[in-house]
Amino acid sequence: MSPERHAPTTVLPVIVTTAAELGARLDAARAEGRTVGLVPTMGALHRGHAGLIRLAAERCDVTVVSVFVNPLQFGAGEDFEAYPRDLDADADLAGRAGADVVFAPPVEEMYPRPIQTTVHVDGITTVLEGAFRPGHFDGVSTVVAKLFALTGRCRAYFGEKDWQQLAVVRRMAADLSMPVAVIGVPTVREPDGLALSSRNVYLSPAEREVAPLIHLALQAGAQLVADGETDPVSISSVMVSVLATEPAFDLHYAVAVDPHSLVSPPAFHPGDEVRLLVATRLGRARLIDNAGAIVGLPQTPYDRKADTTCAGA
Ligand code: AMP
Repeated sequence: MSPERHAPTTVLPVIVTTAAELGARLDAARAEGRTVGLVPTMGALHRGHAGLIRLAAERCDVTVVSVFVNPLQFGAGEDFEAYPRDLDADADLAGRAGADVVFAPPVEEMYPRPIQTTVHVDGITTVLEGAFRPGHFDGVSTVVAKLFALTGRCRAYFGEKDWQQLAVVRRMAADLSMPVAVIGVPTVREPDGLALSSRNVYLSPAEREVAPLIHLALQAGAQLVADGETDPVSISSVMVSVLATEPAFDLHYAVAVDPHSLVSPPAFHPGDEVRLLVATRLGRARLIDNAGAIVGLPQTPYDRKADTTCAGA
């Protein structure tokens, strides 16, 4: 790795693979009065992850990036084995974004024996992703609960890209009084609007070309909401019709829901916050994305900027 790729002050993160060493380092930091930031990831880091890491590094004294492809959150026939893994590249990107520690435990360290205790968040886990990926959120909440336990008191940064996951983690931390402040970070996108995702590598060139239609569909839905539309079905139909222009999409859902309950009310009201969520298969990849809007409130330049930022790592 060439020195010129690093800013002069960048220090490569320490790679920690055991729970004991992570706990010892973070306990020592907190004993000195230093605050801890945690960015949980499954690796294959990209600029979206870098945005989370940079924010954590700006706000916290010690920033930990966990890199763990969690078998518990993959269903049968999903891409657990195929999921891209490259720890050296991850450590390099994490370091450049400001991480101090990369926690990359082997599976046996996280699950030394068959697990008998899992965390289940009720209600919001049965819809949308929960309906298409049964058990997925139990795997997510269980591994995040373990990461929170191993990290201890901290601020934890999650992407709005995975809106339902963010809602589940927030709810778990609040319901179980975990000493963790859960912070959501806006989605980082490619210049053409496609949300950055580790799974974008599965797209063929032709699929990559049409993938930004997902963002266009969300923008069309958001515009309708901003124009005052209150009917969730009409909002959904507009998004579906944008995606229907491209037969490569196998659409799983395109919905307008309450951002907290993740359920569509019979009708929204002026001033209501609306979350638009899309999931679709595109070739080998299953892509998800979302956007927010307020009924009857024109989208502000700030919203548009936050939603289309493509920050360099
Ligand atoms: P993953 O490694 O895909 O499990 O993602 C780890 C964290 O990064 C999660 O909190 C994601 O929501 C977040 N993340 C992934 N992609 C993006 C993106 N394009 N913009 C912002 N955050 C993201």
